[in-house]
Amino acid sequence: MITGKNYIGSKLSAKGSKTYHTFNPQLNKENETAHVEASSEEIEEAAQLATEAFETYKTVSGEKKAEFLNAIADEILALDDTLIKTYCSETGLPEGRAHGERGRTVGQLRSFADLVEEGSWVEASIDTAQPDRKPLPKSDIRKYAVPLGPVVVFGASNFPLAFSTAGGDTAAALASGCPVIVKSHPMHAGTGELVSSAIVKAAEKTGMPNGVFSNLNSSGNDVGAALVKHPKVKAVGFTGSIKGGRALYDLAAQRDEPIPVFAEMGSINPVVILPDALKNKGKDLANTYAGSITLGTGQFCTNPGLILGIKGEELSGFVSQLSEDILAIEPSCMLHPNISETYTKNKEKAISQSETQVVADYDKEVKANHAQQAVLTVDGDKFLNNPTLHHEVFGPFSIVVQCDDKEQLEDVISNLEGQLTGTLIADSDEASEYSGVISALQNRVGRIIYNGVPTGVEVCPSMVHGGPYPSSTDSRFTAVGIHSIKRWVRPFSYQDWPNELLPDELKNENPLGISRLVNNSQTKAAIE
Ligand code: NAP
Repeated sequence: MITGKNYIGSKLSAKGSKTYHTFNPQLNKENETAHVEASSEEIEEAAQLATEAFETYKTVSGEKKAEFLNAIADEILALDDTLIKTYCSETGLPEGRAHGERGRTVGQLRSFADLVEEGSWVEASIDTAQPDRKPLPKSDIRKYAVPLGPVVVFGASNFPLAFSTAGGDTAAALASGCPVIVKSHPMHAGTGELVSSAIVKAAEKTGMPNGVFSNLNSSGNDVGAALVKHPKVKAVGFTGSIKGGRALYDLAAQRDEPIPVFAEMGSINPVVILPDALKNKGKDLANTYAGSITLGTGQFCTNPGLILGIKGEELSGFVSQLSEDILAIEPSCMLHPNISETYTKNKEKAISQSETQVVADYDKEVKANHAQQAVLTVDGDKFLNNPTLHHEVFGPFSIVVQCDDKEQLEDVISNLEGQLTGTLIADSDEASEYSGVISALQNRVGRIIYNGVPTGVEVCPSMVHGGPYPSSTDSRFTAVGIHSIKRWVRPFSYQDWPNELLPDELKNENPLGISRLVNNSQTKAAIE
């Protein structure tokens, strides 16, 4: 049952006076439950509990943490239809998407469980002592990764499960040994509470310390800002707008003790279509891209918001076909009236730029909160000089930039802000002639795709979901896949520490059997 209350550790709590409701965009009406925003006292309690929990949780074995993560996955599945129905009622997304996202969430939790159970992720590194070294003896030094402390996770509006309460950030932080306080996303607070109940149950069943997880409601900036500024919070994970992510990043930097904010923010994901590809498969590409631009009503951070090509008959043909194909697609529902209004406003702003031409703008009447897809074109030199056109329009929208030549194409790419992805569409031997374009693209993105679409982020160890600012606040890390755990840890060294006082990961006998770098050789062997 959804109560509308906060979880302060394992306890349901509603001390605040401000309430709000989630919204069903398909039915265009508010959902029933009144969610109670967390009070200052509850924020304090959650931070205090998380700090206390950290002292125990940071020492919990990989095996026990794996049990916890797997139990969360099991409890989420046990929520069954209640979760799916609540998800749909708060997002307007179809059941198929809810099932898919739940599968992804559960898969992420289990992959972190496997990672910490195996244990080598801590990157243990051991340099044994050389007491006889001349002119000075060498100390015994041993390093591994330790958790940072309580982490605040901001749920994403567009991924209520996979990037929210028990999503990638939470799973990675819990796997690393950090307690998590979730700042629940106001648009899907009911889904967030259900998933929180699953985490709390799993924590109790597997004997985790109270406060390892809390879930705080809010429908404004205050709770999130207070959490980021709280001295007991040691890191932040965020998915959402550049404006929101940057505000939180700045708040964290202004603290007496600045802390890392790993924010995954906006991206327009440039797609470069080379001339031969346009000539030989332009029609198919138009159809594929009409689908990719409108997938999930364009509400993906990897939505292709920018398509780049070299002017000519082939590019014009592609644009006409794309317009025709995209207008044939039935408009779909956005997550929330606010997102839908913002989409329309940003789309109109782009259209109102005198340099753009509208080649598709769905103009038939649509149901409430449904987005009317659009495609614009602009010339390369005009695009270069108009920063408004470089901004994300979150929704089923894309701009085709028509460049004069290869040099201008390269120039446009080099002048883009940092992006999550870049895509190159090329015919068989074409790419080698465009090494400058490829190199420029590589400088601006975290992942480069060949002859595909940027939408669809596979969860696997080699995935990079992140990129140069502003697509993320720290391009050295990924927000997807097991290596995202690295955001929540710091390296820590022991010098000349007695073997019996070392953590198991660093003991001579290697009781966990993990892979370690011992005197510059990677090995699972014990140290004699
Ligand atoms: P958002 O406005 O960035 O908000 C995300 C979360 O951060 C919310 O929980 C919000 O809390 C909190 N927040 C934002 N600004 C804050 C501040 N200054 N101080 C404290 N907390 C703050 O994103 P959204 O609500 O998910 O969607 C709004 C827009 O973000 C969309 O229209 C879209 O443009 C963009 N977006 C982009 C992506 C992407 O992947 N590129 C994904 C999602 C959204 P409150 O809501 O409680 O204020």
